[in-house]
Amino acid sequence: MREVDLPPVRLEPYKEAFGPARSAELASVAERVGKRLAGRVVWQLNSTAAGGGVAELLYGLGPLAGALGVGTRWLVIDGDAEFFAITKRLCLRLYGIQGDSGALGPAELAHFRAVTEANAVELARRVRPGDVVVVHDPQPAGLVRVAWECGASVVWRCHIGSDRPNQHTVEGWAFLRHFLEPEDRMVFSTPRHVPGWAERPTVIPPSIDPCAPRNTDLTDTTATTVLGAVGILANGGPLPVTVPVPVGEPVTVRRPVTAVREGDPPSARVPMVVQVSRWDRLKDMGGVLRAFGEAGVEGAYLTLAGPDVGGAVADDPEAAALFEECRQQWRELPDGLRRRSQLLCLPMTDLRENALVVNALQRHATVVVQKSLAEGFGLTATEAMWKRRPLVASAVGGLRDQLDDDRHGLLLTDPKDIPAAAAAIRRLLTDPALAARLGAGARERVAERFLPDRHLTQWAQLIEDALKDTPGPAAGEPGPRQRRSGTKEH
Ligand code: UDP
Repeated sequence: MREVDLPPVRLEPYKEAFGPARSAELASVAERVGKRLAGRVVWQLNSTAAGGGVAELLYGLGPLAGALGVGTRWLVIDGDAEFFAITKRLCLRLYGIQGDSGALGPAELAHFRAVTEANAVELARRVRPGDVVVVHDPQPAGLVRVAWECGASVVWRCHIGSDRPNQHTVEGWAFLRHFLEPEDRMVFSTPRHVPGWAERPTVIPPSIDPCAPRNTDLTDTTATTVLGAVGILANGGPLPVTVPVPVGEPVTVRRPVTAVREGDPPSARVPMVVQVSRWDRLKDMGGVLRAFGEAGVEGAYLTLAGPDVGGAVADDPEAAALFEECRQQWRELPDGLRRRSQLLCLPMTDLRENALVVNALQRHATVVVQKSLAEGFGLTATEAMWKRRPLVASAVGGLRDQLDDDRHGLLLTDPKDIPAAAAAIRRLLTDPALAARLGAGARERVAERFLPDRHLTQWAQLIEDALKDTPGPAAGEPGPRQRRSGTKEH
């Protein structure tokens, strides 16, 4: 288990982003929780510090909560390849998808428990009675009990799920459910993903950090300079490129991307369709390739970008195979189409550099696509909407909560419907007035609902509520907690 460093941030840029009224409300709610915690820690526990939406959320919210007086620390669990193969399978089943043909039986359960126990020792050394522990997703779920027995208030925060329960979700929940039982609260991104048996569910949608390298404003010239220098656009200047950002040190982009393409990179003038996602079957990068081909807009270019598969997303063991599948599909495209599309692997060595390149790419896009087959929330969509990009997104999971069709983007009722995706891409590429209207609506939607002030206020309320169930530090050091009645042994 290792702790991720959360460097302090200044509040001023955030106050500017939220406006005075919203900033004041956030400060007052944070002050209340800060007093109630009285120096106790809010621990965040997950399985990766690099890649994916959960890590992105914690890098943004952790330092901001700290600046507001709510001490937040972040721990990442350890696990071996077998553990992450099991948890990947488990996550896919909770998304309603079989994934590989492997089982979630007694052997998998035993390995999951063994890895949990190894992490438990380190967690128990750190957590004190009265702390709050937020356990993210299935990978560290076995530690819910450990944190609870240390006397902490425990929240299990689920970022994934399926809109329609099926045999795979039933199997996934059967594996996971009893690990969750001593939790004080459960939080989901969307009401669609709350399982029927959850006793005290709360819905808190995620948010994006408007001041982070991933989302901060960039001029067109800066975006084009960055994309040229890393080899995504033609005629790039030299690396490194240094870009000032509102929070933290300036970001220096030093590393070129690895591109799978034929010929030179596209010119900055070419309209570009972009999907940025992990290489994961649920993101359906292959489906985007097919839909772009069917859209048949001459002169447009497709970019599919994801993390470097040799990189650090340890909890995502299928990424390399999925990237390879996608590359094979690209190779088999008709010549004309292959020359108008590229697959990019973005270096993950420096996460702020990676985020800035994603920012530039999303800003440069004429159309952004998020053609997921299932989705917890889909931060890539929120990020693109904040940048006023016209978006084509599948109507699944949290994406359905994020945008209304024809107001904030275009929604695909059936995520597998390639002709419908092709038609939506074509509409946005060929109707600039529509694209501009949807982009403006998208920005407004994110400003209203998906910024960290709303998110942290909801968390503060939840933590206050959960703390009512545990004796506070004012009542003296509570001892380790007894199991709630009805909690099963396993
Ligand atoms: N992301 C990234 N580099 C990449 C691909 C994705 O930094 O090469 C980021 C992306 O910008 C977003 C997060 O990873 O912030 C993905 O979150 P999302 O909720 O869209 O999906 P998840 O990966 O959690 O399923």
